[in-house]
Amino acid sequence: MAPTKQRILTGIRPTGALHLGHYIGALENWLRLQEQYECFFLIADYQALGDHIEEIDRIRKSVLDVALDWLSVGLNPTDNAFVIQSYVPEHAELTLLLSMITPMGRLERNPTLKTEMQRLESESMSVGFYTYPVSQVADILLPKAHLVPVGEDQIPHIEMTREIARKFNRLYGEVFPEPKALVGRIPRLMGTDGQAKMSKSLDNCIHLSDDAAAVTERVRRMYTDPARLRATDPGHLEGNPVFMYHDAFNPNKAEVDELKERYVQGKVGDVEVKKKLAVALNAFLDPIRERRAYYEQRRDDVAAALLDGTRRARAIAAQTMLEVRTAMRLIYLD
Ligand code: AMP
Repeated sequence: MAPTKQRILTGIRPTGALHLGHYIGALENWLRLQEQYECFFLIADYQALGDHIEEIDRIRKSVLDVALDWLSVGLNPTDNAFVIQSYVPEHAELTLLLSMITPMGRLERNPTLKTEMQRLESESMSVGFYTYPVSQVADILLPKAHLVPVGEDQIPHIEMTREIARKFNRLYGEVFPEPKALVGRIPRLMGTDGQAKMSKSLDNCIHLSDDAAAVTERVRRMYTDPARLRATDPGHLEGNPVFMYHDAFNPNKAEVDELKERYVQGKVGDVEVKKKLAVALNAFLDPIRERRAYYEQRRDDVAAALLDGTRRARAIAAQTMLEVRTAMRLIYLD
């Protein structure tokens, strides 16, 4: 039976607690779209192993923590599926088959992979890490997703997914839709240290699970405008994470506009701007904290959501793999 709703596949690697960058770059769109689409929310543990093979304990802990974060922000695991990637072995199988039609040169041209490879020493980089964009293509194609809501850094992977889907369909017949990327309201949230991206690996995060005191302290120590020495100096808004976060998370637009106006004129100090940001962030996080407290008492429900979603995803994956093997004529015996 044809699915009544179009599908979304999107995911996160279980390498730690989720942060505001995840929310604004990905989760906000997931929440908005979860009623309209049939969503597969993937906990990409295979992918995490690519550069965290020596941290399996961290991955194990993070699988449940990510699911808890998802429930805390309000994702619905009943109409959608929370999926553990490695519990659906078809992900590995499709990755292998798609790697056969992916030219090496195509991987080498992927700008996100290039940047990440510079971060890792090439001799310590695993083959599994190098080919992770192909596994991401397989993740998206396995449930035949139409839409992939992601942060900006993921766009090259979605472009590659479209190319590989086209190539597969051309070589073996129409099996896969060509998915589109959907970038969040703020494509890349800066870190609290002023670095281009809030990222688990850079220790510049505000986590969805941080308590109010931790958030206030992080904000107090946040990077602002380095050229501004006194509150009376005119400040700059560009590249200033404090204002980027105000824009992203403070629903009181009049307050933000008024603060910006005074900031560029040198009529407000960092302390006031930061205090108001901490209040806005804590108000945003409070309902998330409340739901987290609820689910922390119900860990069995979190595990059940994962098992149930994974089971449903696996049934769909098996069906797709049958179509793939049939299209590629990899069925030898009746
Ligand atoms: P990852 O933790 O790398 O698996 O990222 C999961 C999703 O969150 C991807 O779609 C990322 O693009 C998105 N994401 C992570 N960090 C940020 C950020 N600082 N700004 C915007 N999106 C982000």
